[in-house]
Amino acid sequence: MKKSAYTYYTRVDPDKLLMYNSMRGTSSFIKFHGEDALIAEKCINSPDEFSGTKIHQVLNEYGMIVPKELDEKQLCVHIAWKKIFNPTLNLIIMPTEDCNFRCSYCYETHKNGIMTMKTADSIIKYVRKNIVKHTELHVVWFGGEPLMSNDTIECLLYISDELIKICECARKKYSADIITNGYNLTYSVFEKLLKRKVFSYQVTIDGLASEHDKYRFLVNGGNTHDKIINNLLDIKNNCRKRYFNIVIRTNITSKMEHTLIEHYTELSGKFSDDSRFSFFFRPVGDWGGENVRRLSKEIYDTVSFKKIYEKVSNIQLNSHLCFKRYAYFYDDSTCSACYKNSYIIGFDGKIYKCSCHFEEPENNIGSLNADGEMVLDMMRTLKWVKMPQFINKCEKCFFAPACMNMSCPIYSNNIRHVDNNLDDCPYEKKYIKETFNLLEKNGYFKSVNL
Ligand code: SF4
Ligand code: SF4
Ligand code: SF4
Repeated sequence: MKKSAYTYYTRVDPDKLLMYNSMRGTSSFIKFHGEDALIAEKCINSPDEFSGTKIHQVLNEYGMIVPKELDEKQLCVHIAWKKIFNPTLNLIIMPTEDCNFRCSYCYETHKNGIMTMKTADSIIKYVRKNIVKHTELHVVWFGGEPLMSNDTIECLLYISDELIKICECARKKYSADIITNGYNLTYSVFEKLLKRKVFSYQVTIDGLASEHDKYRFLVNGGNTHDKIINNLLDIKNNCRKRYFNIVIRTNITSKMEHTLIEHYTELSGKFSDDSRFSFFFRPVGDWGGENVRRLSKEIYDTVSFKKIYEKVSNIQLNSHLCFKRYAYFYDDSTCSACYKNSYIIGFDGKIYKCSCHFEEPENNIGSLNADGEMVLDMMRTLKWVKMPQFINKCEKCFFAPACMNMSCPIYSNNIRHVDNNLDDCPYEKKYIKETFNLLEKNGYFKSVNL
């Protein structure tokens, strides 16, 4: 046996060894303590010396050690193909590209307009004609702000009802997520969404009201923090159903860092007793557009952002904040823009691949016509959907099966040119030790006793 090229291990404290294999994903999260940690570390590096022992058996079972003759790179290529040609139809639908907010880092141009009935019907016709080729349909409601007005909400509900009927009729699974700023996510809107199988929500709160309202304000400059928090509390207090989850995302700049502890203490006091709520943070980055350039002095570099994880893990709270969203990326850090069956549909029926760089001409790969047919520019489409470019640094990367250099195809497929120094590995690879520390506190690593 040999150590798998995709096994990673680290000590988050001197007594505890966390281990993961990126071919197996989160199902391989295990931990060893004390003397067992020392034995595990020795065995992973010289498996044959431990042949026939319990540690050898455990490491084999979790894929940490593999047969010497196994061609792991070939397996990696196989995983990449499976992801690219995943038969799930994944539609990211934008009922509008406009928004009721004007966040200071927003990359979108807020094109005026709401999806017309004609475009909504084109989507429905497209799904009716094509669902037979797919195993299931997954919809992500996105914008702009998908809940911007009664009209965008009505549009979303109408399309949902029709797509659910089509899937029921074709006996295909239907599921949906939403990314919303949360301002119009009242309890009554939430109930309507839940009925339409929208079970996963991402809402952004960028710190205490004093900070959030500086970055995320209404078109007229008005505050938004308290209304979003009240909407989420209404949902928490009124909904008895357990099968949905709300991820509260925080985008962090160096200017709001000093309030981070109070921010998470406040969120913890309000939501950490409810497992339907979890938390997630990212540094504010250059996600495209012009606005973010004004914040360039507040944006973290890779090294400085590490300390944020430490700061968040060390906050003294009555109960740990749940950061389960990070676990997802250890199973799969690829971007759906690489997948053949994944499309973003704009409010005007234009088809895109990347949900950030709408200004990039190569991102607009076609449009939906009134008959429900996607008219695609194949040259553009093939720039996104292709075998990943395994560059030098990926050859020896333990994270390759989860990423395959497909975590951001706009850069890795050279659709958008960047200088060679760009560190485009996913955050969860760059900050693996720090993220593991958070996930360990959430009980994600299974204890193994020898
Ligand atoms: S809520 Fe989203 S789409 Fe709207 S301005 Fe803010 S970042 Fe942009
Ligand atoms: S892009 Fe980075 S994380 Fe992804 S496979 Fe290459 S080296 Fe690994
Ligand atoms: S291609 Fe990159 S920027 Fe675009 S959606 Fe994917 S990860 Fe985001």
